Amino acid sequence: MRHEIAGLKSFLIDIDGVLYVGDKPIEGARECIETFGERGYRYRFVSNTTGRCRGSIAEKLRGLGFEIPEEYILTPPIADLGQVRQKRCFLLTGGDVYRDFEIGGATIADYDVDYVVIGDAGEKFTFERLNRAFRLVMDGAEIIALEKDRYWMGSDGLMLSAGPFVAALEYATGKDAEVVGKPSKKFFELAFRELGTAPDETAMIGDDIFTDIGGAKRRGMMGILVRTGKYREDAVKNSEINPDLVIDSISHIFEIKI
Ligand SMILES: [Mg+2]
Repeated sequence: MRHEIAGLKSFLIDIDGVLYVGDKPIEGARECIETFGERGYRYRFVSNTTGRCRGSIAEKLRGLGFEIPEEYILTPPIADLGQVRQKRCFLLTGGDVYRDFEIGGATIADYDVDYVVIGDAGEKFTFERLNRAFRLVMDGAEIIALEKDRYWMGSDGLMLSAGPFVAALEYATGKDAEVVGKPSKKFFELAFRELGTAPDETAMIGDDIFTDIGGAKRRGMMGILVRTGKYREDAVKNSEINPDLVIDSISHIFEIKI
């Protein structure tokens, strides 16, 4: 193992699939976060969830019993705000995520845009919206992918994430998207700035072998995979990414000596 667990000072914690699945909190997750605080670990939540603005994520968590300050939650729109301020953006996103962009000073528009921004739009990924996005990119807009995850775990099974739709637009236009969520450098650098700790003192806890664990390892962090949420043994085996640890759920973290 590359990292000594004993040297850990901080945690980056994924939200969906780690703290809850659908509308069900993971057993013991709340107590685990409280213990992080009591033991003096620094922590932030890093989510690729792009179907809700940051305020709504905090509200949902509160409803599930997690008292987490909004500022502790880092999402791709938050990481991207510097870039889109005073720019015109076509948003292919769902829920109320547009609020993060409004607050951040972007102009949301359907034509003459600088950026086509794609997040997890769910049922709003209609042919009409995707085709509009395609035309805007062909007219010169850049593609910003808030995330490029393959799938996530919904309450009734696996769900397509933004990644497959980003790939479709890239394929059609021949242009690469800039990914701003996990596993991008920009996103993790924002998290390290917020934590005030170095990558080798930090562990990422997540359920996505590619974006959470692959991203963490590439940035020099320890990667702890949980067997909750979208975890699939075959995906891990085929990924060629080796988590430093695999635990049944976040609540098992204190069973290892840290
Ligand atoms: Mg997750």
